[in-house]
Amino acid sequence: MTGAAAVGVAGAGAVGYRVWRDREPASPPAEDAKGRLLWRNWSGVQSSYPAARAAPASEAELAELLKTGLAPIRPVGAGHSFTALVPTDGTLVSLDAMSGVLAYDPALMQATVRAGTRLGDLGPALAAIGQEMPNLPDINKQSLAGAIGTGTHGTGLGFKAIHGEVLGFRLVTPAGEVIDCDANNRPEVYDAARVGLGAFGVITQATLQNRPLKRILKRVELRDAEAVYADWPSLQRQHRNVEFYVIPFTGKAALITADETSEPVRPRGPDVETKTLMDLKTLRDLFGFAPPIRRAVAQALMGHIPPEVMVDEGWKLLSNERPVRFNEMEFHLPREEQIPALKAVVAAVETHRNDVFFPIEARIIEADDAWLSPFYDRPSGSIAVHAYYKDDHQFLFDLIEPILRRHGGRPHWGKLNSLKAADFAALYPRWKDAAEVRRSLDPGGRMLNPYLRGLFAA
Ligand SMILES: Cc1cc2nc3c(=O)[nH]c(=O)nc-3n(C[C@H](O)[C@H](O)[C@H](O)COP(=O)(O)OP(=O)(O)OC[C@H]3O[C@@H](n4cnc5c(N)ncnc54)[C@H](O)[C@@H]3O)c2cc1C
Repeated sequence: MTGAAAVGVAGAGAVGYRVWRDREPASPPAEDAKGRLLWRNWSGVQSSYPAARAAPASEAELAELLKTGLAPIRPVGAGHSFTALVPTDGTLVSLDAMSGVLAYDPALMQATVRAGTRLGDLGPALAAIGQEMPNLPDINKQSLAGAIGTGTHGTGLGFKAIHGEVLGFRLVTPAGEVIDCDANNRPEVYDAARVGLGAFGVITQATLQNRPLKRILKRVELRDAEAVYADWPSLQRQHRNVEFYVIPFTGKAALITADETSEPVRPRGPDVETKTLMDLKTLRDLFGFAPPIRRAVAQALMGHIPPEVMVDEGWKLLSNERPVRFNEMEFHLPREEQIPALKAVVAAVETHRNDVFFPIEARIIEADDAWLSPFYDRPSGSIAVHAYYKDDHQFLFDLIEPILRRHGGRPHWGKLNSLKAADFAALYPRWKDAAEVRRSLDPGGRMLNPYLRGLFAA
C-alpha cells in the first residue's frame, strides 16, 4: 500500500470509528408485550413498564391508592435520578397534580409547599413572597419531594442540602395513615424518612426554612486547576456559594462563585457552558488519541474565554439548563479528603480514559441529622464524574468508585453506585434504626421495588 493509501485508510477508519461511537444507545421498546408503556429516567439508563400510573389530586385519593394499588408502588418526581429508585412493574405515582405554595410565614421566612412542586416553579413562587431557598442544585427540574428524598444539594460553606432546611413534612403511608412529623412530633419518622428514597410512603407537603430573597453576582471563570486546588479552602470562605469543575486533559478548571450584591441586574447571557461542553467533545473526538495535543489545543482555545458575570435573584442564576444528557456518579467525602480524592480521580481519568470529556465537579455541603442523609453528622466535599449518555459509563464503577470509596465517600442516593445494604449499614450509623422505622410503616414491603428490597429487606 502506498503512503497516501495508508493515510486514506487510516482516515476512513477514524471517521468510521467516530460515527460508530456517536450512535444513539439502544432504546427499550415503547411498550412491552402486554401493551404497558415505557417509563425511562432522564438519562435513559433506568426503565420499566408500570402496570398502572396515577396522579392523585388529593391526600384522600393518594391514601386509597397506597392501600389498594398494585405493588410495588413507586413515587416519581421528575425522573432525574440515575439509580433504580423509581422503576416498577406495579404502580407509578406522580404528585404533579399536587403542587404550589400552601402557606407561608413572612416573619419566620418559612413556607409550606406541596411535594410535587418543581424547583423551577418554586423559585418564582417564593420570590413573590420575598423568600428564597437557601441553596439550589445545578438544575431546577426536580420535584421538591424528589430532591428532598435523595439528599439533593447545592454548594457553599454553611449551606445544608435541601432536606437540611425541611422543618417538617406530611407522609401518607402504605396503610393510608397520614403522619405530620417534625423534630417534636413523630421525630423518628422525621429523622428516618426525610431522606427517604420514597421507601417510607409518599410525602405530600414539606415546610421549608427559607431566607430573605437576595440578588447575587455569579461569576464563571477559567483558572489553572492546580491554583484552584491550592486556593480551595480560602475560596470557600470568600464566597457565599462556590464550586469548580476540573476539565480533564486541559489542566484547567471552571470556578463558579456567587455572592450577594446590590449591583443592578445583568441577566444571564447565552448558554456558553453547553457550547463549551460540545467543543470539549469535538476536541476529544479529534485529539483523544494524543493527550499532549489535546491539552495544547485546549489551552490555546481556552486562553481567550473571558469570565462570565451575571447579576440577578439567586433562583434565576444558581440552577442551569443541562440539555446534553449524561450518566453520573457522585460521592460525598469527609471534607479533608475531597482534594486528595479529586486529584486521584483526575489522574485516573487522564491515565486510563481518554474518551472522557465532561468536567469533574467539586462542591461542599454542611452536615445535617437526617439518618439516611449522606451528610449525616459530617461536613462534606463532593466529587461528581459524568459520562456522555452515548459513551460507556462502566468506568464509573470500575475506576472511579473504588477511589471515592477509599476516601470514605458516601454515594448520592440519586446517582450511580454499586453499594449494597451491608455497605450502607457500615457507612450510616443510624441505618438499622431507619430500616426499622421503614418496616413499621410498610411491613408488607409495598413500596419496595427490587433495588429497594435489596437495601431494606435483606
Ligand atoms: C441533569 C441533572 C442534574 C442534577 N443536578 C444535581 C445537583 O446539582 N445536586 C444534586 O444533589 N443532585 C442533582 N441531580 C440529581 C437529582 O437532584 C436527584 O436525583 C433528584 O432526586 C431528582 O428529583 P426528581 O424529582 O427527578 O426525583 P425522582 O428521580 O423522580 O425520584 C427520586 C426519589 O424521590 C422519591 N420521590 C419522588 N416523589 C416523592 C414523594 N412525593 N414522596 C416520597 N418520595 C418521593 C422517588 O420514589 C425516588 O426514590 C441531578 C440530576 C440530573 C439528571
